[in-house]
Amino acid sequence: MKNKIATPSATKKILREHNLNLKKSLGQNFLIDSNIIDIITAAAEIKGDEFIIEIGPGIGSLTQAVLEKLKSGNMLAVEKDAAMVEVLEDIFADQEKLALLNQDALKIKWEETAAKYNPENRKMKLIANLPYYVTTPIIMGVLESELELEQMVFMVQKEVGERICAGPETKKFGSLSVAVQYHMQPEIVHQVPASVFIPQPDVDSVIVSLTPYEKNIYQEEVINRKFFFQVVKSIFQQRRKTLRNSLSKSAVINLDRDLVTQALEDEGIGLKKRGEKLSISEMISISNRIYEMKE
Ligand code: SAM
Repeated sequence: MKNKIATPSATKKILREHNLNLKKSLGQNFLIDSNIIDIITAAAEIKGDEFIIEIGPGIGSLTQAVLEKLKSGNMLAVEKDAAMVEVLEDIFADQEKLALLNQDALKIKWEETAAKYNPENRKMKLIANLPYYVTTPIIMGVLESELELEQMVFMVQKEVGERICAGPETKKFGSLSVAVQYHMQPEIVHQVPASVFIPQPDVDSVIVSLTPYEKNIYQEEVINRKFFFQVVKSIFQQRRKTLRNSLSKSAVINLDRDLVTQALEDEGIGLKKRGEKLSISEMISISNRIYEMKE
């Protein structure tokens, strides 16, 4: 297909010719503005020799733009809707660089899949205009899979993108910010209005880029990852309480008040400080200290 898919007329034509009824339940809002596609591919800094994973290709507007940039590299597109996969097979019939997988991205074993589709072990990047109803579990599934990604660029609902990128002492800083920032460094690349989609969603979107840290001090420092995230969850579940109260009255972990007090004093953190004001490094010191004291 030579013409750009990401235009209102081309998108409507494909939908009509393939008799496609869009499924709201699968978050099927398609991009019809090639400028936004260009911003996503530019943010992914595609050099041409990578292995690119796309989640939720739909009718292939982003897929098409990535394929144009790939020279020796290859691409895997994971789409849950079999009807979309049929369309993609048709549109990209002559594209040897593209593999299509009709699967739910939530159920994919990312490391195994990457090994299968990227046997040459090319540098990996992930791009997606994500279905909003499963944004967070998809992102977290990929991040926790230990797939070695050079970059991740995705479009999400504005509110979620802002929460991912938020820092301490802001209203949007929460468990999601810590969960993502523990793995990679996020940045909002571009604001995207609802008007660039067919059909238009109810919310605006943002493009978020995640880059690996040169040295991931968070992962190096955390003694017990599961316990750390229980502490983080406790802190934000009762974000308006003091740290001592949110940790000693947590519904997630059972911690003795005296032990919490001692740990906070040991780490030089005021007992009355609110958890949402802590940096991730401070959360790590507290969780490590409590974990050591509990052992
Ligand atoms: N990439 C296209 C674009 O930008 O126009 C389509 C994006 S649309 C927001 C999201 C796509 O993800 C849809 O094609 C939908 O069928 C697919 N999808 C929804 N849930 C999915 C899942 N769990 N796994 C894989 N694909 C999914």
